Amino acid sequence: MSNEINWPEAIQPLLKKYKGSKHPLEFKSVYELMVMVVLSAQVSDKLINSLAPKLFKAYPTMQSLSHATAEDLLPYVSKIRNFANKTSWLLDMAKQIKNDKNIPNTMEGLTALPGIGRKSANVIMREMKVPREGIIIDLHTLRVANRIGISEDSNPIAMEKKMMKMIPQKDWEVGMALSFLGREVCRPTNPNHEVCVMKNVCEFCKQTY
Ligand code: SF4
Repeated sequence: MSNEINWPEAIQPLLKKYKGSKHPLEFKSVYELMVMVVLSAQVSDKLINSLAPKLFKAYPTMQSLSHATAEDLLPYVSKIRNFANKTSWLLDMAKQIKNDKNIPNTMEGLTALPGIGRKSANVIMREMKVPREGIIIDLHTLRVANRIGISEDSNPIAMEKKMMKMIPQKDWEVGMALSFLGREVCRPTNPNHEVCVMKNVCEFCKQTY
């Protein structure tokens, strides 16, 4: 069970494999990343990557976005789930920030913005390379952490809190590393246990083999 395993030690092969890996969203600036993170909630990164270049050609900076209207953005975002709310958050966010140089780099500053929760703030701070204030818990992280047995929580905030206590801050990349494992190896169906770096400690794997 989870309390018999030294998790800070057990995650080292996972960190070795994925630490510093490039985020699947294809952004060229923190401004682009913020916009893409907001648009990508409950939508595949692939769809956002395919739609974003046209949006950023029209609105290349926070300043340009701050002058846009919902009608202006419609042609670029209409295929995205929940686009009306996302558009409204983006426009409010741009009006508050006004300029790329004002983009906050703390958990408090980022989560005060519309459309940015802890997960998004953690993703943005990872790419800004500022000291971590939390652990990225996305849907992949949740699934894989539950399977492995690091955490039984189904709520991302509860999982993040527990993992922040369990894992030293220097290894808070673990959330994104678990997410990469979930995207590449531990898929929802047919997880590829054979090639998995966590197979020796994974509870799900022990039960199914
Ligand atoms: S051993 Fe299997 S179930 Fe466990 S994390 Fe790896 S792929 Fe997922």
